[in-house]
Amino acid sequence: MKDAEKDAERVVRRWLTYALESMVAHEQELGLLDAAAGDGDHGATMVRGLRAAHAAAKAANGSAGDLLVVAGAAFADAGGGASGALLGALITTVGRGLGDGPYDLTTTTTALQAGLATITRLGKAHPGDKTLIDALQPFVDALTAQPADQPLIVAWRAALPAAVAGVAATQTMVAKRGRAAKLGERSQGHPDPGAVSLTYLLQAMSAVWDENYPS
Ligand code: ADP
Ligand code: MG
Repeated sequence: MKDAEKDAERVVRRWLTYALESMVAHEQELGLLDAAAGDGDHGATMVRGLRAAHAAAKAANGSAGDLLVVAGAAFADAGGGASGALLGALITTVGRGLGDGPYDLTTTTTALQAGLATITRLGKAHPGDKTLIDALQPFVDALTAQPADQPLIVAWRAALPAAVAGVAATQTMVAKRGRAAKLGERSQGHPDPGAVSLTYLLQAMSAVWDENYPS
């Protein structure tokens, strides 16, 4: 196996560890956000899903892409709820898109675009519906707008603020999808929990790179 492939595999494993740690640290916050307009289980769902994803990848061998496929399937099985199914499909689709690499900006952007298309098809949410799409779509757009010859790490760091801004924009939105849609205007005034947790997942990726390649 080439060095770059082994490196990518290690980065994915580390990402799952960081993502799980982040969700454990934010479990209560995510639960409270979800309780404001939903059923309050979002933090628990994310922790359960990531524990399973982390364990499944730990038990598996293969390329970075293969590990994500396995992790996404485990996340969907264990997570449950709307976010379990959608994020599981996202992680699996990105894994398939990455395949055996190269793990560069172009491949990663294409894989994330495919992931976004999959969860849009499954969940039928559009930008502005107050879902995790409102963080993911701006992030993918910002990544797509980066110069193609940029290192993935640099492009990822540059695109992260778009996800954070996307989360902030969900505060004033009225939920149109998922459980929160039943409460209509009462869903206003706080960010969408799924958009918040999705941004934690994206930030966990850059935390792995910060550890290995400080900016
Ligand atoms: P549940 O709604 O089944 O309790 P969670 O509480 O874990 O699931 O997740 C809620 C989050 O899932 C929402 O904050 C939203 O971001 C996301 N979500 C719900 N429905 C959809 C959908 N149709 N498309 C995209 N995201 C969705
Ligand atoms: Mg919920």
